[in-house]
Amino acid sequence: MTGRHLYKMINIGCHLSSSGGFTSMFNRAIEIGANTFQYFTRNPRGGVAKEINKEDIDNFLKLSFQNNFSKIIAHAPYTLNLCSSKEYIRNFSKNIFSDDLLRVESVPDSLYNFHPGSHTGQGAEVGISQIAKALNEVIKPNQTTTVLLETMAGKGSEIGGNFKELKQIIDNVDVKDKIGICFDTCHVFDAGYDIVNDLDGVLKEFDSIIGIDMIKAVHLNDSKNICGSKKDRHEKIGQGNIGIDVISSIINHPYLKNLPFILETPQEDLQGYADEISLIKSKIK
Ligand code: FE
Ligand code: FE
Ligand code: ZN
Repeated sequence: MTGRHLYKMINIGCHLSSSGGFTSMFNRAIEIGANTFQYFTRNPRGGVAKEINKEDIDNFLKLSFQNNFSKIIAHAPYTLNLCSSKEYIRNFSKNIFSDDLLRVESVPDSLYNFHPGSHTGQGAEVGISQIAKALNEVIKPNQTTTVLLETMAGKGSEIGGNFKELKQIIDNVDVKDKIGICFDTCHVFDAGYDIVNDLDGVLKEFDSIIGIDMIKAVHLNDSKNICGSKKDRHEKIGQGNIGIDVISSIINHPYLKNLPFILETPQEDLQGYADEISLIKSKIK
């Protein structure tokens, strides 16, 4: 194991189905050359969460430690909306969020990523304050999980399609050391940040508004659409409008290179991710 650090390192994985549990996800991750992964805490459309299997988790924790795994990411269901105009949806979302945070604690130091929400006509200002208020009710100061606001494409009434909105949420969250950002490359591009022509400029803008250290994970996706399209349609790495050269600059960027990178690209099977991971590893400088 000595000499490990002589090799080029990247923390990379992809979104995996949670069926079979953590040990199963670990085995699939290893099979495709990954050292992290992302999973849905429950059906992406909501619904009941699976029972927590302590034996499965203990086994996973041992394996992930032995194999130098990076932090893993739990992704909240898409139906969660902390800033819906409907109060029962806000309450339902808060309950799911709170229950998820308890469950995710069973894997210490996890990241819990969620879509900030859609204000559904209430306006961004109301939405932002509802999100921050809900976060203050569910995040516990002693939790080991870091909650991540995902950068969004800004479609419809989505909050988080620009860095200032994300900053306003963070400013209103009390427990600041438990909150961070997940930087989704497809979403940021679709939102109108031109990472193709000015990656450094976009990251500098992020740094001046939010602070670069707040990025705790990257969703590494190409985009089917052009910058500013506000569409949110992911593409395979190198086959979209972002392109392999920019993806390569992202994984090698001094601000980003040590973060966990998660692929959420449209693949038919695990082999698709395995191929993508080896493509990306071939671009490490
Ligand atoms: Fe997401
Ligand atoms: Fe994403
Ligand atoms: Zn997306």
